Amino acid sequence: MSMDKYLVKLKRKSSEVDEAKEKEATGESSTQASASVSSAQTSADKSSQGTSVGTSVTAKGKSKKQKTSKSQTSTTSSYEEKRVRSFLPSWTKDYPWLKNDDEKRIMHCAWCREFPKLADHSSPLFKGTGPGAEKPSDYRKSGLVTHDSSANHKRVAGKKAAVDNPGKQPMDIHLQHMSTEESNRIRILMNTAHFTAKEDLAMKKFPKLCTLQEKNGLKIGDNWRNDKACRKFIDAVADESRQDIKDEINDAQFICILADGTTDRGVIEQENVYVRYADKDNTPKTTMVDCVALEKGDSDGVLKGIDKALETVGVNVDTQKEKVVACNFDGAAVNMGKHNGVAKKLKDRVGEHLVTVHCVAHNLELAILDVMRDSGMQYVEDLESTLGRV
Ligand SMILES: [Zn+2]
Repeated sequence: MSMDKYLVKLKRKSSEVDEAKEKEATGESSTQASASVSSAQTSADKSSQGTSVGTSVTAKGKSKKQKTSKSQTSTTSSYEEKRVRSFLPSWTKDYPWLKNDDEKRIMHCAWCREFPKLADHSSPLFKGTGPGAEKPSDYRKSGLVTHDSSANHKRVAGKKAAVDNPGKQPMDIHLQHMSTEESNRIRILMNTAHFTAKEDLAMKKFPKLCTLQEKNGLKIGDNWRNDKACRKFIDAVADESRQDIKDEINDAQFICILADGTTDRGVIEQENVYVRYADKDNTPKTTMVDCVALEKGDSDGVLKGIDKALETVGVNVDTQKEKVVACNFDGAAVNMGKHNGVAKKLKDRVGEHLVTVHCVAHNLELAILDVMRDSGMQYVEDLESTLGRV
């Protein structure tokens, strides 16, 4: 019996025992209640033997009913205190991904380690947890429940199922039954949606773009020709692209963080975060990671925003310490401030080797503005600031 079920049963039996005691005191016959007491006793005995947990529940003796009742009320707290949590092999039935090293006394999620690119590296069950771990902790079922329902683990579980049962996933089965004509239609719709997003077109243009292509001889069919379908296609393409970027960044040995602030239409401060890295052909690539709203505009707020953005591509603070070698910001004090700027805080986090670059493009902009001012072209600056206010 699992520990949780055991506790529930114990509490239920305890209230039955109290009832029996009450009846006894009022002089009522209690054949049924006595049966309950002895069954409570037996079940407590069984459980404590089965799990080698020493509790006061097993008390036997003269006034069994009364003694049991008393000890039951104080059982839960003393039980929790004295409880020795051990690994229960039965957990692996509910959680097939769970592996335990009996000698080292560390358990971990085998699936997450099999697909590290999808896993959350900061999860205790990815690192390994238990009494023998680096940071020792009790064996607990609650940690398994949390891990099993985490977004990263679910993604890993999906991947595992797809790898173990190729061709048996719902999407695979659907694709196998899809005719060539139908899959061509979907391909055209997806390409059109992708074009809509890439060219910054309104999604309402999607149905018209479909009509145009039909006029030009392509067979598109009657389904999924509306803006809602367009959004779904774009989301699917975006998910896939994001995963590709995540994989590439995970494979990269070193990364450079680039970030720049902006304000949106609601005048809320945002931070655009990019990552520069070398792909598997050693070609440098700069990829936008995310645009995040900042809670605060100071250096702590900006750094928090950068961390949040990087986490979307699987770069947490630990990964930053391993891989970040450079950062690039404009010259604003909040970023480049000697004592309290974002760059300084990043350096404190990852180490002295961090190369801080004052963005070349921003530097050039400053130089050009200076030249314009000095050469009497004030109107260009006026125009820029006017446009900025629109
Ligand atoms: Zn896992």
